[in-house]
Amino acid sequence: GSLLVAQDLRKTYGSTPALDGASFSVHPGEVVAVMGPSGSGKSTLLHCLAGIVTPDEGTITYAGRELSAMSDAERSALRRSDFGFVFQFGQLVPELTCLENVALPLRLNGVRRKAAELTARRWLERLEVEDVAGKRPGEVSGGQGQRVAVARALAGSPKVVFADEPTGALDSLNGERVMELLTESARSENTAVVLVTHEARVAAYSDRDVVVRDGRARDLEFAV
Ligand code: ADP
Ligand code: ADP
Repeated sequence: GSLLVAQDLRKTYGSTPALDGASFSVHPGEVVAVMGPSGSGKSTLLHCLAGIVTPDEGTITYAGRELSAMSDAERSALRRSDFGFVFQFGQLVPELTCLENVALPLRLNGVRRKAAELTARRWLERLEVEDVAGKRPGEVSGGQGQRVAVARALAGSPKVVFADEPTGALDSLNGERVMELLTESARSENTAVVLVTHEARVAAYSDRDVVVRDGRARDLEFAV
């Protein structure tokens, strides 16, 4: 069955409708690309699914639990334990080394430092950036930094990774490699990926594409 299901979401910012009856679902291990023009509501949908933004109307159910029925603290705990995030610009902590950045979500989940750093190192190797382990984010290239960000998102063994334009700041070669590594790793761990992108070459790595237009989401084969 579905891991994460959103039904008929509505969200208005002031008088601007961002979501206008959007529905969405993703299965474990499935990679779904959310596409659509700028301002169509993609990021708002992603933030609602991740429990960061509360919709005005509609329901979101994760693993059988309704997000709106949880307290803020429960939603935060769920994000930390079950969700991983990748953004356009890595958003790594500049004061920490790349290894410490990847270990951070594990540390926040109570994993002891040695074990966290061992796991972090394994993920850096998997993303082929083990050589930057001791460097700070400011000392690595954009492509390396984004691989570190993907390693960090996956290191805590999340059930869902939310990726908002994860390759938006990369050239096409680096972007494709990051997408390959992200989707291969996610599939092998049965991690679902919700991927917001406006780039067709990024969506090429998805199992299914959803198009958002005017705040409504549709599977691509039904899109106009
Ligand atoms: P997309 O990700 O497809 O570009 P967004 O979800 O970011 O679309 O935005 C959908 C609409 O909601 C846009 O009109 C945008 O300006 C508006 N919007 C999004 N976030 C906010 C916010 N925090 N405050 C006010 N308006 C917002
Ligand atoms: P806490 O309440 O435990 O401090 P946060 O709400 O700050 O947790 O963040 C929980 C997770 O949500 C983090 O992984 C963070 O990266 C992500 N997050 C927080 N704010 C945003 C945002 N505006 N957009 C996308 N992800 C966010």
